[in-house]
Amino acid sequence: MGLNAFLGNAPTLETVERELEQDRLPHSMLFVGIQGIGKRTLADFISMTVNCLRGGLDFCGQCRSCRKIIENCHPDVKHYEPEGQFIKIDQMRELSREVFFEPFEGKRRFFILDEADKMNLESANSILKTLEEPPENSHLILISNKPNELLTTIRSRCQTYRFGPLPSSEIEQVLTSKLNYSGEDLSLLSRISQGSIGRALSLDLKEYKKGRQELLDLLEVCSQNFLYTRALKSLTALAREKEAFGKKAEILYSLLRDLFLLKVDAACELITHWDIRGKLLSLCANFSFRQIVDGTNALDHIETGIKRNLSKPLALDHFVLSFSGQLAKED
Ligand SMILES: [Zn+2]
Repeated sequence: MGLNAFLGNAPTLETVERELEQDRLPHSMLFVGIQGIGKRTLADFISMTVNCLRGGLDFCGQCRSCRKIIENCHPDVKHYEPEGQFIKIDQMRELSREVFFEPFEGKRRFFILDEADKMNLESANSILKTLEEPPENSHLILISNKPNELLTTIRSRCQTYRFGPLPSSEIEQVLTSKLNYSGEDLSLLSRISQGSIGRALSLDLKEYKKGRQELLDLLEVCSQNFLYTRALKSLTALAREKEAFGKKAEILYSLLRDLFLLKVDAACELITHWDIRGKLLSLCANFSFRQIVDGTNALDHIETGIKRNLSKPLALDHFVLSFSGQLAKED
């Protein structure tokens, strides 16, 4: 084990390696990029490298220090994450106190803040001074996939490290070594994961395909015979599953996006659902651009409605009507 076990984002890793080598690792760091791309992993790898008992510019993953960090029980490596909705002021007060302690058994202390954008205003303000003048033996690593939701005053005090999505080919390579999937499934999984290796590894492909089939049936109903009641019924059933709806809405978005892309260019290689390309091509022949765009907008409405707990019937109605082209016809 060692830093070279880190997958993807080579330029970011090289920057960190250089800083470790020159003993110039910043004390206030901000890791930004999509979820599941390895931000937290690299933060842990850095804390292991600095504190590894074997010394050098890498970590072994086996010494007492490395093992404690892996098991999340090293007294010098602290993780903070939202308690409920927010990272709370009490957590940040504790951090601001502890940051000045000398290392207990390691060389340096690390404070890793997962979902740092979930700090409320009070919490964020309370660590500004610490970020501005962190003590020599401590490093703060803030992690965020929504950096725009961080205060500018927080961002400006940190050195930012960007983590980009992994290309499909790299994801496929990793998946091949870890999962026992067919070539077609691997390709689908790497496309759905949108460059996030964490997402690819945690996704239940069988469940995903089942959900996708339901949605394809819905699109079919909307496209061929205009069976208003049937379409509305299946969509209402979908929206009732509050938890699952978010996931299904995401699949539906990606299907609509594919229909749009195929409508522009039947040979488009950017589509997500490459494995059912034939089916999508025949579907998209039945829809106009306007229907696809209207359907996507209507889906936005349903999602917002559900988040706000508004009554859904109207939004669902609107989706089925606009996607079936009925609204357009009435214009
Ligand atoms: Zn070690």
